Amino acid sequence: MLSPLGTSARSKVLNARLEDLRNIGVTAHIDAGKTTVSERILFYTGKEHKMGEVHEGTATMDYMPEERARGITITAAATSCQWHCARLGKVFDINLIDTPGHVDFTAEVERSLRVLDGAIVVFAGVEGVEAQSETVWRQADRYGVPRVCFINKMDRVGADFWDVCSQIKTRLDAKGYAIQLPVGKEDKFRGVVDLVHMCQYEFDTSTLGKVWSTHEIEPGLLAEAKKRREELFHLVADADEEIGMLLLENKEPSNEQLRHGLRRITLSGTHFPILCGAAYHYIGIQPLLDAVAFYLPSPNEARAVVGTVPRKKKTHAKGTAHGPLSADSATAVKEPEATETRLPLENEPLAALAFKTLFDTHGDLTFVRVYSGTIRSGERLYNSRRDKKEKIAGLFLMHADEREKIESAGPGEIVAVTGMKHTYTGDTLCDEERPIILEAMKFPDTVISMAIEPKTNADKERLAQALTKLSKEDPTFTHNFNDETGQLIIAGMGELHLEIIKSKMVREHNVDANVGSPRVSYRETITESAEVEGRFIQQTGGHGQYAVVNLRLERCYNEEEDHIVFENEIFGGAIPKEFIKPVEAGVRLAAKSGILGTGYPMIHIKVTLFDGKFHEVDSSELAFQMAGTLAFKDGARQAKPVLLEPIMALEVVTPEEFLGNIIGDLNSRRAEIHDVTNRGHLKVVHARVPLAEMFRYATDSRSLSQGRATYSMEPHGYQGVPRNKYKDILGEDYQG
Ligand code: GDP
Repeated sequence: MLSPLGTSARSKVLNARLEDLRNIGVTAHIDAGKTTVSERILFYTGKEHKMGEVHEGTATMDYMPEERARGITITAAATSCQWHCARLGKVFDINLIDTPGHVDFTAEVERSLRVLDGAIVVFAGVEGVEAQSETVWRQADRYGVPRVCFINKMDRVGADFWDVCSQIKTRLDAKGYAIQLPVGKEDKFRGVVDLVHMCQYEFDTSTLGKVWSTHEIEPGLLAEAKKRREELFHLVADADEEIGMLLLENKEPSNEQLRHGLRRITLSGTHFPILCGAAYHYIGIQPLLDAVAFYLPSPNEARAVVGTVPRKKKTHAKGTAHGPLSADSATAVKEPEATETRLPLENEPLAALAFKTLFDTHGDLTFVRVYSGTIRSGERLYNSRRDKKEKIAGLFLMHADEREKIESAGPGEIVAVTGMKHTYTGDTLCDEERPIILEAMKFPDTVISMAIEPKTNADKERLAQALTKLSKEDPTFTHNFNDETGQLIIAGMGELHLEIIKSKMVREHNVDANVGSPRVSYRETITESAEVEGRFIQQTGGHGQYAVVNLRLERCYNEEEDHIVFENEIFGGAIPKEFIKPVEAGVRLAAKSGILGTGYPMIHIKVTLFDGKFHEVDSSELAFQMAGTLAFKDGARQAKPVLLEPIMALEVVTPEEFLGNIIGDLNSRRAEIHDVTNRGHLKVVHARVPLAEMFRYATDSRSLSQGRATYSMEPHGYQGVPRNKYKDILGEDYQG
């Protein structure tokens, strides 16, 4: 949805305030140090008076109780701060979003990347590019986010700046380029050389790094610094016309010229500057902040927002006010028509994207990124995706869990609003007279579920409220009632994800409930095609029911939200137009809970409505919905249904001596081992493995390797379940 902004448009929108604003995120593999980096940023920008430390459980960005207790970052917190860049003599406003690194929380990463203009990607100096770094990198590629790389933990034994730089090139296939050199090695690491400005920075640990000083490059590093700067000049010259000209004319670029060239190639999203430091030891953070100012985009650079303009009202909206839009309720939303580009100007009509909802003790907060126009406290706005009016009760700048009240916010700003009743993640807020729908975010399917049962009647009520709130906050958390088993099922992205949800229920919503052990979220699909007729006819006296539909079911891979494609081939009036949508709704309803008795949804199916019959008097929407449901169920049964299970892409990093143990164990878990590669002195096993075999792998992999192996995994699609596992999943009574 983001497209380049033309030059004339850009010159129109150049406006001093926007130029000095940076919306950035910090992303990384878990444990690389992004929370520490974020904490240091807040400290040096003057927001924090006392520096938080992750291992003491006091980090400011990690403000939810679960996060403090577990030492991980779960909820992307948006926070605003200001950086005085001495070299440019300017103050920059920075909106910082701390994103989680655990694969269970991909939704958080996804939504923050969606609203950011640039990112800092943190790598660890020893571990380098890890599996999760690749995932995040690819996500950032998808949204075209310019990035600077920060190689952290340079103080650790075995940290190797150049090795990680080359991993960035080879493993991420990215044009990373060093703009710094480390000063000192491992526990002697004490500063960085700046290859652009040709100087050296050192940091005073007695003031927690607050005092940092600029020096001449020390003699031992000067020759290398000159050589590397020359390489940098040539690299920029290759990619940038202006610097290329200097090279042709045999001229040296000035520091400013080189910096501007670097800025241009970084903004284009093809090149990535690499810096280094040791956040924990207060080294390298201020130059990183300067790099954010120098090289990352302001909201008015390079990207304008494009959305679709909804048709004028003719709504038959149903149920869209409650819960995220489901596939069938989405049909109630007005169909989009033309696209429209909005410029980041205050006097443009408002276009803002809600990217996060949070329930805290002071009231519900919706995080919003303003793309164009101005949002004002007290104003009435229009939620175009749900066709609802909203009133802004309060408007705030957020600093972790503190907030500052403001009256208005303009283009490029990230703010929190209170008072939203109908607005969920992915919704657009705009001016009702000039409606626009910005593209929503894509979230992956849930892969793990568990049954939950409230202990008392009072808990039952609180549970219902908690579930609604939790799924509003987190689009990768869902809940549904399984009619077959009579159980309430919650589903999410992994064991840790559900465990955290469970503990939130107890702590924040005061719900006492028994939960079953986690289960894999299976899916069902068909293996053959079928044509069927579904009849719903009741004509015994009075007003009857009459609907006949003919459906064709076929296999089909697709990216639909629920993986079911519905097509109507009736044009001749065999069924009047107003009954087509009800047929589709009936089909989607039936597909939602499958037919093998698991209650899991059916996916990868194309359903074509190719014929049918109706009755002038007795036909109704309800009758056609019922006929659609019956026909789909019948067709799915005939088309040889099978069970699918989620497959994970797994990467295990282990010292060589435990490789045999790890592989032997993976073989017993039905894993397909694709490759074993080297990473320094470690071995990396790349495999695909059914999620069903991966419960408790955290504990098992530890005991197989004396605690030395680490792993990460992410969803990699679905695959047929072997027949001999059907009875375990469907119960002993299954006759397949
Ligand atoms: P995150 O999971 O990426 O947010 O990583 P954290 O910021 O929580 O850091 C993970 C661990 O590494 C914590 O125990 C930090 O104290 C530690 N750490 C962070 N930065 C450095 C560093 O520069 N050097 C060293 N030796 N440890 C660090």
